[in-house]
Parts: sequence; structure tokens; C-alpha cells
Amino acid sequence: MKRVYSFVPLFTLIFAGSVLFTSCGNKSATDASSSCEERALNIVVSVNQWKSSVEDVVGKCGKVSVIISGTDVDPHDYEPSLSVVATIKKADVLVVNGVDYDSWASKSAGESTHVFDIAKKADVKEGDNPHLWYNLQVHKKLSAGLGEELKILRPESDKYFKEQVEKFDKKVDQLLQKVEDKKKHLSGKKFVASESVANYLAKAIGLEDATPEGYANATANEGEPSANDVAKMHEVLTSSQAQFFFYNTQEENNLTKDLLADAQKSGIKILKVTEQCPSNFSDTINWITSVVNSLD
Ligand SMILES: [Zn+2]
Repeated sequence: MKRVYSFVPLFTLIFAGSVLFTSCGNKSATDASSSCEERALNIVVSVNQWKSSVEDVVGKCGKVSVIISGTDVDPHDYEPSLSVVATIKKADVLVVNGVDYDSWASKSAGESTHVFDIAKKADVKEGDNPHLWYNLQVHKKLSAGLGEELKILRPESDKYFKEQVEKFDKKVDQLLQKVEDKKKHLSGKKFVASESVANYLAKAIGLEDATPEGYANATANEGEPSANDVAKMHEVLTSSQAQFFFYNTQEENNLTKDLLADAQKSGIKILKVTEQCPSNFSDTINWITSVVNSLD
């Protein structure tokens, strides 16, 4: 037993010595952040509404690219080209929304790609509303979960990622405060939605969903609402039963255009919302802040 104990300090000394030697022998090894820059992770994000949040967490330790970056495609029906699949396969980390919103992306992941599924991290179940970026709590789940994942891949930058997560969470908390302030004035007012894209945000603000159930279920499942559901929807829009109409411009068809025309005549407040972050915003939190600001 004595012998075993005597080895411990000797081993510790050798270990400590080797660390010292590395630090003194290599200029950049003393600065963990510069080495992470040199070994920047290749991060691919499936849809642009998550890009800025991912960038905020990874900071200078990664290069972030995005597959669907515009509001001119229907993300629910997207199919990747071969070159997109090749880009995804090369990623060190692939960030996906999950819950079937972008299953094309996870399916294209390479063998060594770490797939970061936001819905799974946030405990969102299959069949739940997939438009998770309008849920600010999910952004915080993303930052916490991704921070942990990055620490495993680049343990030397542990402290840096922790700081990045804290900075990002502060930004989200500021918006959460704004949401609470809005809630004081708007709680109990009603909304209807052409598609459930911004429902998480509307509910966080205290608005009640007045979208006829049959219509909401049909559009959530990419189905056709029945004539009866459509008639009910027209009625809600034209009878001052609701104060806000969330209109998804990325999921537009003849039916939604009719609904929009109704809303324009009735004077209900129309909020045009999208799935992807619009091109006039580079930051999703700023974009959602502008949606919150427009609710009054
Ligand atoms: Zn949608």
C-alpha cells in the first residue's frame, strides 16, 4: 500500500510538468480562444431562424452556414439537392429544428456529424407545434444544450462557451421582459392564425387562440380545411371576435388570400409573419422583438 501512495505525488508532478511545458513551449496554447479559432468547427444549420442563436453560442470557435435562408420557399415541403446533402455530410455539427420540420436535414447527416436536435433538447414531442423559434424558452434550451455539446468537442474553450451562453441568455431575457410588459396590456385578447407559425409567441403574450379548431387542425397537418371550417374562419375574421390576425406569408394559397382580403375589410390588426428570418434582419431575437413591438 505504501508503495502505491508514493507513486501519486510523482505522477502528479510529471503531469503538472508536462502541462507547464506545453504552455511555455507553444505561444498559442496559452490562449484557448485563439486555438479554437484555428480549429473552427464547421456548423450547418438547417433553417436560418436558428442561425444567429447558434452563432451567438459558438462565437469565434465555429463557422456557421445555413441551408434554407430565404422566406421564398415553403420549408414544410423542402427537398435538398445533392450538393446540399454533400454540404450537410461534411458538417462537424448539424443543428436542426426537429419534430419533423426539417427531417430532410437529419437524414442527410454524415457518420461523424453531431446532430443537435433543438426539439429534443427542449422536450418537444412529435405532433407538437414545430414553429419553435417563436418560443423564447426554446432559445434558452438551445443555448444551454449547444454550450454543453461544444464543450465536449472543444473542452479547452469551456469558459468561453459559458460566457457566450450567458451573453445570449441576457439578450433573450430582455425580450422576455418585453413580452411580460405586453402581456399586461394584451392578456385575454384574441387572435386567429392562417397557420400556427407564431402561436407560441401569441400565447406567451397572453393572447387566446380563436382560430376555429377544424381549420387549425387541417392547416397544421397540411390538409384542406372543410367548407364548414372555412366559413367559421370567415366569420371570426369579420365579426370582431378577435383583435389580431397572424398571417403566414410563406404558406400562402387562394384560401389564405381570401382570408386576408376579409381581414383587410374588417379592420382586424394584421401581423404578417414568416417561417424563416426575413432578409432585413440578421438576428432572430431582433426580428422577434420587432414582431412583439408591432403588437399593440
Ligand atoms: Zn409552418
